[in-house]
Amino acid sequence: MTQTPAIPPGPPEESLDPADWNAYRQQAHAMLDDMLDYLASAAERPVWRPIPDDVRAQFSTPMPQQGAGLESVYHEFLENVRAYPLGDTHPRFFGFVNSAGSPTGMLAAMLAAGMNSNTGGAMHAANLVEAQVIDWSKALFGFPEQASGVLTSGGSMANLLGLAAARHVQARAHGVSIRQQGLRALPGQPRFYVSSETHSSVQRAIEALGLGTESMVVLPADRAFRFDVAALQAAIAADRAAGHLPFCVVGTAGTTNTGSLDPLDALAEVCAREKLWLHVDGAIAAVAMLAPSVRPHLAGIERADSIAFDLHKWLYVNYAVGCVLVRAGADQRETFSLTPPYLRRAQRGMASGDVWFSDLSLELSREFRALRVWMMLKEQGSDKFGRLIEQNNALAARLAAHVRAAPDMELLAPHPLHIVNFRCLDSRLDAAMTDVLNRAVVIDVQERGIAVPTTTTVRGVSAIRVCINNHRTRAEDVDVFFAAVQASARTLADEIAAGRPPAL
Ligand SMILES: *Cc1c(COP(=O)(O)O)cnc(C)c1O
Repeated sequence: MTQTPAIPPGPPEESLDPADWNAYRQQAHAMLDDMLDYLASAAERPVWRPIPDDVRAQFSTPMPQQGAGLESVYHEFLENVRAYPLGDTHPRFFGFVNSAGSPTGMLAAMLAAGMNSNTGGAMHAANLVEAQVIDWSKALFGFPEQASGVLTSGGSMANLLGLAAARHVQARAHGVSIRQQGLRALPGQPRFYVSSETHSSVQRAIEALGLGTESMVVLPADRAFRFDVAALQAAIAADRAAGHLPFCVVGTAGTTNTGSLDPLDALAEVCAREKLWLHVDGAIAAVAMLAPSVRPHLAGIERADSIAFDLHKWLYVNYAVGCVLVRAGADQRETFSLTPPYLRRAQRGMASGDVWFSDLSLELSREFRALRVWMMLKEQGSDKFGRLIEQNNALAARLAAHVRAAPDMELLAPHPLHIVNFRCLDSRLDAAMTDVLNRAVVIDVQERGIAVPTTTTVRGVSAIRVCINNHRTRAEDVDVFFAAVQASARTLADEIAAGRPPAL
């Protein structure tokens, strides 16, 4: 008789789950209640406030070796983290192109984290959710069935992926495999045409793709900050004559500084004629296809070869969700896919199915960010988002009307969307001190916790830039903000005129 060798008992075992699920549940419910209260009372707090030194110091402590428990770390979160937010849940956050997120986006983030789905690939429902969001996006932009796409962390990554596809496909047209031979096999310098209003992420993508900024032809935008199509045609002709390789045009649907909308149809026309790739950076306004008053101004987007856009901007989805679509799905796959043995596909089982997002970008492990988009769209319906976009534009027009009516202010650019650039004037101040005044006004209303505008430069002068990319903003918020700017400007102009300019 053979005897089974005894397996010795192992060491004590543990996991990250709570010892007492019921006690844990109570804490978790309290956290959820706190967060709902926090969102419901967003308007009642200062928009932003500085972080005191003693709070900052809490972030220099070493990694704890022993755990303090959930209650303790949650308390710390409330005291030191949640109390000092960027402020973008507040109705008077007008900075950058930030949105406030939504309560349902928050819940979806929790549900997705609970499932802990890795959306790199394989057969599970989270991937079908993302595939559906991609399908909805294709339909929104009039893209064909064979188009493909993938959600990204934002517009920057989406631009990188779109431009990588452009580089791959255009090199292929010259008989060069970028993946195998690299850029140096090209018979000339590739050229990517952008405007002076193109977002900085496009340049960063061009740099990261090894193209070098000498490949980036920056054409001055027209008076309304739109892509100058005549200048584009001239630049392409000159480049061809010089032996360069025109590859790609980057048009922008909603520029970051002013919200200008490039003439996409005219750009598509040039690209079709010249056999160039049209990449549309629609980070801000591509989703404004849902807004009846904006949609006609996006005509031509359906002709793009690739579109980058953000869901965390004008679809108000909680951070961070962007997307890139490529018209010819096979091109996106050819640019990125690589299947090692440990990711081998099967006809059946978990590794089956044709939804493998890792084939379409540089990421393998991926967050289940699609659930936020999917739940928000199903909860509210796409018409609601169209109305919110219109509402934001109307509030921007209201702010512009305030500025126009004020004798000591001026608008610095047209405001086709929800971005308004203006400045305060004072007859006692020269050009340099007028810039100081406007930058100081922005900091003052931020520090007083009233609103968060930002600064930028428009036509060579410092502007107060307001982007109302915020579903919580009401007319009253615009009025409160405007009054605060006027009050700050008066006080600060007196100080500057008296020779006491503030430190900026
Ligand atoms: C915001 C923005 C980007 C970058 O998007 P992220 O989501 O911040 O990475 C790119 N292009 C434009 C026009 C933008 O406004």
